[in-house]
Amino acid sequence: MSEPVQSIRVLLVEDEAGDAYLVKKTLKETREIQFEVTWVESLKATKEAFNAASFDLLLLDLSLPDSEGLQTVEIARQICGEIPIVILTGRCDTDFALSALKAGANDYMIKGDCGCCFDGLIRVIRYTLLRAEMEAHNKLLVAALNAAANGIVITDSNAVIKWVNPAFSRLTGYELDEIIGSKPSELVKSNIQNKEFYQKMWDRLLAKRHWRGEIINKRKNGSLYHEELSISPVENARGEIINFIGVKQDITERKALENMLHKLANTDSLTGLFNRRAFLERLAIESERILRSNDCATLLMLDLDFFKRINDTYGHAIGDEALKEFANIMKKQSRGIDIPARLGGEEFVILLPSTNRNDATIMAERLRTQVSEIVIATPKGDVQFTVSIGAALLTKENANGEITLNHADTALYAAKESGRNKICWF
Ligand code: GH3
Ligand code: MG
Ligand code: MG
Repeated sequence: MSEPVQSIRVLLVEDEAGDAYLVKKTLKETREIQFEVTWVESLKATKEAFNAASFDLLLLDLSLPDSEGLQTVEIARQICGEIPIVILTGRCDTDFALSALKAGANDYMIKGDCGCCFDGLIRVIRYTLLRAEMEAHNKLLVAALNAAANGIVITDSNAVIKWVNPAFSRLTGYELDEIIGSKPSELVKSNIQNKEFYQKMWDRLLAKRHWRGEIINKRKNGSLYHEELSISPVENARGEIINFIGVKQDITERKALENMLHKLANTDSLTGLFNRRAFLERLAIESERILRSNDCATLLMLDLDFFKRINDTYGHAIGDEALKEFANIMKKQSRGIDIPARLGGEEFVILLPSTNRNDATIMAERLRTQVSEIVIATPKGDVQFTVSIGAALLTKENANGEITLNHADTALYAAKESGRNKICWF
């Protein structure tokens, strides 16, 4: 299948009729590309031609009746915008040709002494158009990267930063001149991830594999942010890593939201203690631990005495106040490893890991005493109350959270039965 014939619209600016004839002839005789040539003889005519039609390429003689030398290129560039310009020069002078490129030409063609050596013209035109197309394409890609919301960073094989997009600057707070030439580890490393974290990352990258993970980094102003980072190694034709491309998304807000949701899902809103769900989860973990050790734990179940009466006499708000005061005592008396929770209503528990019967009794007694010392002042008089506590051991032989909860409940019932404000063991 033959390729469709392209038609390239060329504006030829040439005041020598002989040269113009040769160029047109060369272009016409080319078979693989079809040219559509418009010929003008001055810059003034060039401007008029551009006003009237569009072109793909300008073939420009530098010595024209209304302009001479490099100035011709500069003016032509203004007239034709981004369109590639190939200059036709009679001077076999490389320095001059390079100056012309700097002045805005895309390539040049030296007319032979005999005035007919246009052998390379087609090749020059072809490459000029191809290059222009690639440059336009690259410009578009860079514009897309610059517009991206994600931070993008390109480093060399030693992780020295070569390029970043504006989102990278916005995310990290660093200016471009601070970023280029430095390493990400010098700019944003927070030291929150340990050495092994980075070691694993580099092991993977140097094995030419993609790495992706969540990481906490530091902005220029010292504040920390969470980012989702993916890094891809780039290889050359010989399979050597020459670059790394990093794409980072700021997930700080998402993390904060996740943390908040996690807290909401695990916390009792009135008292701030763990809720039933969170407690049962931790109880299961503790049961597992005890099963694999010779340790034991104690579970205390606590229930306020005659609480209904407090609600009925002083109102629900005062009842809530009492629940909060009670929860505060539980929090204050808890060690770091203890797990106090509100299972619901006025039913509370506290799991005491690595605590035997003696120590747990001391703790329960302390709770019982402190609760009896709470005084809530109300218009109807001071409110005081007591708590009954049921205690049960969690041992290797009996490392089942659910069963232990039942045991503690049974003990609590016994405490109520024996007059309340008491501690009973299962
Ligand atoms: P006992 O000594 O046998 O435990 O008697 P009690 O009155 O404390 O027990 P009961 O189970 O009959 O009553 C518990 C009360 O707790 C009933 C309910 O109105 C109250 N309650 C449950 N949840 C809340 C709450 O969130 N806020 C308030 N203020 N009261 C609550
Ligand atoms: Mg001329
Ligand atoms: Mg009660």
